[in-house]
Parts: sequence; structure tokens; C-alpha cells
Amino acid sequence: MEVKGEIYRVSGPVVTVTGLQAKMYDLVKVGDEGLMGEVIQILGPKTIIQVYEETAGIKPGEPCYSTGSSLSVELGPGLLSSIYDGVQRPLHVLLERTGGFIGRGVTADGLDHKKLWEFKPVAKKGDSVKGGDVIGVVQETVNIEHKIMVPPDISGTISDIKSGNFTVVDTICTLTDGTELQMMQKWPVRRPRPVRTKLTPTRPLVTGMRILDGLFPVAKGGTAAIPGPFGSGKTVTQQSLAKWSDTEIVVYIGCGERGNEMADVLSEFPELEDPQTGRPLMERTVLIANTSNMPVAAREASVYTGITIAEYFRDMGLDVSLMADSTSRWAEAMREISSRLEEMPGEEGYPAYLSARLAEFYERAGVAESLCGETGSITVIGAVSPPGGDFSEPVTQNTLRIVKVFWALDAKLSQRRHFPAINWLNSYSLYKDSLNDWFADNVAPDYVPLRERAMEMLQTESELQEIVQLVGSDALPDDQQLLLEITRMLREIFLQQNAFHPVDAYSPFAQQYRILKAIMKWGDAAMEALKSGVPVPEILKLESKNVLAKVKYEEKFDESMNAVLTQMDKEFASLRGR
Ligand code: ADP
Repeated sequence: MEVKGEIYRVSGPVVTVTGLQAKMYDLVKVGDEGLMGEVIQILGPKTIIQVYEETAGIKPGEPCYSTGSSLSVELGPGLLSSIYDGVQRPLHVLLERTGGFIGRGVTADGLDHKKLWEFKPVAKKGDSVKGGDVIGVVQETVNIEHKIMVPPDISGTISDIKSGNFTVVDTICTLTDGTELQMMQKWPVRRPRPVRTKLTPTRPLVTGMRILDGLFPVAKGGTAAIPGPFGSGKTVTQQSLAKWSDTEIVVYIGCGERGNEMADVLSEFPELEDPQTGRPLMERTVLIANTSNMPVAAREASVYTGITIAEYFRDMGLDVSLMADSTSRWAEAMREISSRLEEMPGEEGYPAYLSARLAEFYERAGVAESLCGETGSITVIGAVSPPGGDFSEPVTQNTLRIVKVFWALDAKLSQRRHFPAINWLNSYSLYKDSLNDWFADNVAPDYVPLRERAMEMLQTESELQEIVQLVGSDALPDDQQLLLEITRMLREIFLQQNAFHPVDAYSPFAQQYRILKAIMKWGDAAMEALKSGVPVPEILKLESKNVLAKVKYEEKFDESMNAVLTQMDKEFASLRGR
């Protein structure tokens, strides 16, 4: 029999209840309106609940019920193209039910339970199946075949399997012990979905952003953080990644950002085209929207909801990228709940378990052989918004200890309109070495040495610039002055990339390589010319330098690049022949 508890105390999103018999992480219905909440502490007779909805107006004495199950997501056909709140309620359903604004106490299924999907079985009567095995498929979108898998904790022998059109809650398969399987399965968000083994990441996430692919690549199945102060480009970068990265599925968690920013995402995403297939981008996307005016506890949950959905697609053998914008707002939600619980605060008021929670989250990334024997991956990219851009604060520092790629956004660069404003001196990627073979095989054998040379030149530039600031550039010897011009080309032509330019927004690897090689070629020829006695100003007058700067914007990239290379040869030959 259901045991009813009674509200004892309300403190923001944290509600204390007496008389409730519930387990940790049970989902509960709180108050007369039945607000959704989750048990986060049990102190003898008192149960502490974090409520996912606004708690204004609820008061002691109101009832509280446990549902007996933990916060779970519905997994199955229909996830793609969905836009959810932090606890997987479809936003359009919430809006329809409450007339334009999101009301309280609304329950809504994560998946549409009425929609019919064509289920094609791939297993048959008599087959013995275990958790993760694929029993059938559904063509969920034009490009994604959704594998219907046996839930991880179930096994047995098939006594009946159907074929045809069904809803996600119809029984499509029965086991000899009477277990009925549907296309939908539920999974508690706080528990990672099991895999057979985790594998070492060896392929890069191809992003089409030159500074990321070229200098600081993240592996598919890797983890990256983008910290940066307000206005430095976190959201633009995350959105570019969602649009252009070569993963089959994108889970985008808009976590605690301002409502208007999220509204931009919500209105823009459905319009975008998937560059890989020409189909709407939403067909491979799940959006989770949790703005700063939505309750903090739902924000805390949104990250788990997102990663669980990502794991489900990984289990089918797909490559998934997950963007969380911003993990700082998630950490702030943890801080608020922790302070309401009167826990001992750690650094800057964040709970002592902040780093453990961050680590648990990022650890759910990875390349894995799933229970059905397919290899899938989840790449997690978290934006971090340190107050005042100060990277020494706890969320940035704890994130840095966990992630393997760090794309440091820099306010000075964004003020100079150098975009993406990723600082090439502070950023790093620990995947570089493990991806070298991939680059050599798939881009060009000399790509890695070329990139390393470019990095060294940029390092030298920063040392030289310190001198320039003290004594001016005229004090430098000619070769160093020329080097500064070549590194300027590296910055302006290779590193700078306009996320809003129709052509330059996405730079395929072959083009990235050609741009880098052309700059280096120009630089080497310029150094040769200098050695043969041509003065620096004469070299800098060459028109090919200006033309090279524009090639990245050309629709007919290869033709333009070939033309400028010919022009370079001619111009340098004429310098030599003076
Ligand atoms: P944040 O999320 O860090 O507050 P945004 O991502 O909203 O910052 O970026 C702020 C502004 O910077 C954008 O509106 C845009 O004008 C500019 N910007 C950022 N990145 C780029 C880019 N790669 N290309 C062009 N403009 C950019």
C-alpha cells in the first residue's frame, strides 16, 4: 500500500517530508499539486526531496507520495527531434497543457505513447537473448535506424516476436518466462548504462573548426571543456560543434543559460540542415532546455537525463556528441541544493562532492563495445563559465583535472574580434599523440609535422611579442620581423574562422591541410627570399599574401587555392630574379 508522507518544511527547491517510506533517489509527488521531486537524503523519519518544479505556495501539511521508482528516462523511437526539459518532459506538451507557459505538476511522457512505428524483427522465436541484444529495428528518421535492444538486466528465450506497426508501449516480444518487451525501455538517469568494455579512443571528432581539428583535437569518445568569460564564444562554439561535428547523434543540453539564448537555440536548430545528409539537423538531435528561470533541481537532473539518452544511442553502436552549456550553471544548482541541505560547504560554497560529481559525469563519455557487440562513442564537451573569466575558480579547476582537452576562450581575443577566441597558448589536447596515426592515414603524412611546426612558430611569436612590447618591432632582426608576419598569417588565415560565414563556418580537413601548407610554403619562400637579400617590405608587398587570406571564403576552394599557389611561385620567382 502506498504510504503518504506529509510536508514538514520547504526551503526553495528542497522539501522535507515526514512519514514517507521511500528509498534514495525515489521519484516522489510533492504537495497538493503533485510536483515532481527526487529523494536525495533520508535522515531517520525525515526524507529530504529536491523538487524539479517551482515550490512557491506549497506548505507544511500537504501530502507527498513515493512512486517507488527512481528518476528514469524513456528510451526508444521518438527521442530524435525531441525538445525536453531537464526531466524529459517534452516542452511542447508542457506548453500545450498549460497554455503557453510552463505550469506545475504536469506529468508528460518522454516518448509519444500513441505514435505507431514500424517494427521489423531481426530475432526469432526460440532465440535466446540477453541484455543489449538487438531484437528488431525501426527506421526512426531517414538516416537513423533505431535498434530495439533487450534492456540490460533482462535475458531469456523468445516465445513470440511480432512484426508490423506498434506504439512504443505495445508488447512486441515475449520471453518464455512471460517477460514482455516493448520498444521502449526505462533507465534510471543516475546509473551509467552497462557496456562490455571501454576502448581507447583512436579517431578524432571532426569538427570543421581549424583550431580544434588542427591544433587541439578531441577524440571521438573523449572529453573536452570550453571555459571562457561571458561573451567569449562558448555558446557559438558549442552550437558550431553540434551543427558540424561528424557524429551520428547530438545531445545538446542547454543548462541554466538565459532564456533568450536558449530561445535562439530552440528557434534556430529546427531550421538547420545536417551538412552530412542534407536532412534537417533536428533529425539527429535531442535538445534539453533548462533555462536559468527554470527550477534549479531540474537543472541538476538535466545533465543526467542528457547523458543517459546519449548512452542509449551509443549502445546501438552510434557516435554521439553531447554538449553541455554550461556545466557551471549545473554546479551552481548543486551548490544551491547543498546549501539548502545545510551541508558543510567546500571551496567557494560548492559542495565537497563537486569534483566527484563532475568526474562521474565525464566518465560516462568514452568509446565502448556495447552489450550487443557494437562499437559506439560519446564525446562530451562541457562549457564552463567562470565568473569574471577567472580560471582558478573551483568548477574550472575541477573540470581541468578530468577532461583531456582544454579549449581556453580568451576575452582579449574576442575583444579583438579574433574568433574562435580560443587561446592557442593556453589550450591543450592530450589526445594528440594517440590520433597522429589517424591524421597521417586520413589527412596527409606530413600533416602532423606541419601542425607541430605551426605550433612552435606561434610559441616563438609570443616570446618575440614580449620583446616587441618593450622595444618595438624595429629592434628585431629582419628574420624575426618576417616570422611575425608569417605567424600573423597563421592566426588570421588559419586560426580565425567565422562561425557565421556560409563557406568558412565549416572547413573540411582537406582544406585545412591545404591552407596550413600554403601558409608554410609562403613563409618558407619568404625566408628564402630574405636570405637572398630581398628586403622584408618588398616581400610583404606580394599580392599572393592577400589573395591567400581570402581563399578560405571561396566556394570553389581548390581552384582558388591552385591559382594562388601558382601566383606565389611566380611572384617569388620574380623577386629572386630582380
Ligand atoms: P558566451 O556563450 O561565451 O557568452 P557567445 O557564444 O554568445 O558567448 O559569443 C558572443 C559573441 O561572439 C557572438 O554573438 C558572436 O558575435 C561572437 N562570436 C563568438 N564566436 C564566434 C565565431 N566563431 N565566429 C564569429 N563570431 C563569433
